[in-house]
Amino acid sequence: MRILVVEDEETLAQRIANILEGENYSVETAFRGDDGLEMALTEEYDLLLLDILLPGRTGIEILEEIRKEGLSTPVLMLTAQDRVEDKVKGLDAGADDYLTKPFAPPELLARIRSLLRRQSEATTASIEIGDISIHTGKKEVSVKGEVLSLTAKEFAILEFMAYNKNRVLSRISISEHVWGDNFDLFSMTNFLDVHIKNLRKKVLTAGGENPIKTVRGVGYMLEG
Ligand code: CA
Repeated sequence: MRILVVEDEETLAQRIANILEGENYSVETAFRGDDGLEMALTEEYDLLLLDILLPGRTGIEILEEIRKEGLSTPVLMLTAQDRVEDKVKGLDAGADDYLTKPFAPPELLARIRSLLRRQSEATTASIEIGDISIHTGKKEVSVKGEVLSLTAKEFAILEFMAYNKNRVLSRISISEHVWGDNFDLFSMTNFLDVHIKNLRKKVLTAGGENPIKTVRGVGYMLEG
């Protein structure tokens, strides 16, 4: 497994490299954003670890560029404690997870393992819920073979619920997964209700059965 670390604090970059090499990952480091971007676009990596504030290009810009190029390499963003807006921007730009600095080595390793596992499942997996197929790799949902036109948020909601099917999920936990924490809870959960309504409509229009059950006073459950 090959990991690219883009971090301009060289001692931190070195420390991360040591932690990862201790677990037998092969690690390359870049101290500038533009160098990191070039490496990410020309070499093959299994995972990218991106700091946000970097000389050359920011971590967010690197992420946007590689996603634009169609790379689905998992990205773990490193964010400073006091920059919540970065975390949000990172997730919106397509980061898979984020880690707040300073972090403990076991936390870093756990996040990386989980992203790598998710990636290996994602390239092949599709989740079947009744007559709905959720292709996690292609980020596509079809009902009886017909591909639905879903927004990114609708897909994220449905995928998260599918990974947790037959479990009651609170509106807050779904919202936090989709929008990150530190959002205004009231508007988040209201957005969620609107998205769920649209999702149901799209499934029904395609001739499927509504799989999302409202659990009064708690949240939602995907039955499958
Ligand atoms: Ca930095």
